[in-house]
Amino acid sequence: MKSNPHIAVIGAGAFGGWTALQLQESEARVTLLDAWGPGNSRASSGGETRVMRGTYGPDQPYTEMAARALKLWTKYERRWKQQFLHRTGVLWMATARDDVFERGPVKMLRSAKIKFQELSSTQMTKRWPQVNFEGIEWGIFEPECGYLDARASCQAVVDAFVREGGKYEPLAVLADGLEDEKLRSVTLSDGSRLKADGYVFACGPWLGKMFPRTVGNLVQATKQDIFFFGIALNICPYGPITLDAFVMAFQVGTGAVLRLPTTRVGPSSIPLTTSALSIPKR
Ligand SMILES: Cc1cc2nc3c(=O)[nH]c(=O)nc-3n(C[C@H](O)[C@H](O)[C@H](O)COP(=O)(O)OP(=O)(O)OC[C@H]3O[C@@H](n4cnc5c(N)ncnc54)[C@H](O)[C@@H]3O)c2cc1C
Repeated sequence: MKSNPHIAVIGAGAFGGWTALQLQESEARVTLLDAWGPGNSRASSGGETRVMRGTYGPDQPYTEMAARALKLWTKYERRWKQQFLHRTGVLWMATARDDVFERGPVKMLRSAKIKFQELSSTQMTKRWPQVNFEGIEWGIFEPECGYLDARASCQAVVDAFVREGGKYEPLAVLADGLEDEKLRSVTLSDGSRLKADGYVFACGPWLGKMFPRTVGNLVQATKQDIFFFGIALNICPYGPITLDAFVMAFQVGTGAVLRLPTTRVGPSSIPLTTSALSIPKR
């Protein structure tokens, strides 16, 4: 009988780590490689927090994916007896002038069974008196969404992967020969070669460098400014994460985080969230 396939997953960020764990649980033999470690400070999945939400504008696959991720977080947090997802609630604030982003996914939220409430600005003012809703017409409140401990959760996923028998190596895969017609093995940064039955490249913003002909400039790094504030809890009681277009504000522990709009470092047509590329065995 043929033994279980050996899959190499390259990149241990949010995409690579979870891919490796799911493959390991489906009884593949998995080797996970990362040049700098899960959720490292150069990775898209690094830093302290990421927002988990279902509202993603009118035309997208993310609402469905977020619904599945929310269920998986419940399952794995229970299994690991650790909390990474803080369900503070997420509040989207919409103006009457331009609410396509908020109005668009309402149907999708319903079909994905993500709990949400549509609230008028009067209802929001009553519920969160600490927030200034001037100029806001209505909002979407997602009570079961919130923020995720980003780097810590990437590390937890890799820890679980190793506990379940997966092999993790803190090594880089060199880009040489990856786009050759037959990918038989990959070269690692310690000079050794790794041969697998299949390869999953989950290298986030590095994908363009790894696959210059196939991906090239389609994936580019973005920049987002994040400010951390200390706040007096008696002045500003805990509230949900608030989002207005792409400005986010939320409270973590006794501090507050303000994230300003993402700016692209160069032109890009693929958001980083779609940055996993799978290369099947040839
Ligand atoms: C500033 C910012 C804010 C964001 N906010 C949110 C948010 O609030 N909510 C949300 O859902 N999403 C958010 N995103 C998007 C989300 O963080 C990313 O989609 C996600 O982290 C991408 O994960 P990834 O695994 O594809 O990439 P990465 O996390 O970048 O992982 C790629 C990994 O590959 C490794 N690697 C690269 N090259 C090699 C190589 N040659 N050999 C071995 N390893 C290699 C790297 O070390 C890295 O660890 C945000 C992204 C950014 C940048």
